[in-house]
Amino acid sequence: MKLLVTGGAGFIGSAVVRHAVRAGHSVINLDKLTYAGSLTNVAEVSDSPLYAFEQADICDRQRLDMIFAAHRPDAVMHLAAESHVDRSIDGPAAFIETNITGTYTMLEAARTFWMAEGRPETFRFHHISTDEVFGSLGPTGKFTEDTPYDPRSPYSASKASSDHLVRAWHETYGLPVVLTNCSNNYGPYHFPEKLIPVVILKALAGAPIPIYGKGDNIRDWLFVEDHAEALLLVVEKGTVGRSYNIGGENEATNLELVTKICAILDEKRPGNAPYAEQIAFVADRPGHDQRYAIDPGRIRTELGWRPSVTLDEGLEKTVQWFLDHENWWRALQDRDGVGKRLGTG
Ligand code: NAD
Repeated sequence: MKLLVTGGAGFIGSAVVRHAVRAGHSVINLDKLTYAGSLTNVAEVSDSPLYAFEQADICDRQRLDMIFAAHRPDAVMHLAAESHVDRSIDGPAAFIETNITGTYTMLEAARTFWMAEGRPETFRFHHISTDEVFGSLGPTGKFTEDTPYDPRSPYSASKASSDHLVRAWHETYGLPVVLTNCSNNYGPYHFPEKLIPVVILKALAGAPIPIYGKGDNIRDWLFVEDHAEALLLVVEKGTVGRSYNIGGENEATNLELVTKICAILDEKRPGNAPYAEQIAFVADRPGHDQRYAIDPGRIRTELGWRPSVTLDEGLEKTVQWFLDHENWWRALQDRDGVGKRLGTG
């Protein structure tokens, strides 16, 4: 397939690009290269003849039209977004612009291209979204694809809006879309302001490891390499018009998660004292959702996908990756604004 991947220089997008090129797909990586994007994330495949890069803004309709006409993709995998909840609380405007207007602009450019090509049934617009659109769970239950939307942060509200636009473009114009909503990702190339990298890097620096509130918020953790495999499966084999929830089946409280990371570091890079002694509880995030949990039953039964690693295995790989890639995270830490936030994304 020839895939137009938006946000392919970001955390999840770059995993998709790396997996897709290795699987023999052609990839056009369309990215604005905001603070969150870095071409070093795709350096492993960027010399491949299957890979091309277009620096562009998803809100720039003229550029998008030119890129669609020049590359004539078989499918779009739309990941470009503003993605950090804490940043959305400090400054929601960029989230409205990129996540809502940007998705609308992508949909219109894709629809125009698709109509000009004679409305091929095989074309796909795959929209990548989050489980945060479903709101917050109590102690039991899981999000299914039929859970009503109840977004509670500027980030999740902007992603919910974009999901609705994508469904409307299918119902109204017949654009062949698929959607996925996933849980919290972690793994190699995770941006240093997000929770797991923050924990690793603060621990190594001998600094306090911040945890919001009492650390009892529960998240389901999905290894990014497993997620990339799932996304490629959905764009190739997913049913048009359908949503698929993707989760790691790995629920943990933030405190459990941080304690696991500290224990892995104690093994791999022993310090003078156990790293868990650096844990520091800080004032909670406003509107902090208590629990997210995903029921991935549909993608498992329809497409045969399941995660390949447990949380312990994925965390071990992730910690090792950060220990082995100090140059990568040091370069990003120096960027404006990064490191001033807690990173409990
Ligand atoms: P990220 O912030 O790491 O990367 C986003 C990428 O989009 C960056 O490369 C950035 O340069 C690019 N971008 C931003 N604005 C752009 C614009 N206007 N035009 C073109 N490119 C632009 O994000 P991520 O964590 O990789 O998330 C990717 C997608 O997955 C997002 O849509 C996000 O909402 C969704 N998602 C992420 C998670 C997670 O745990 N990280 C969970 C659920 C859903």
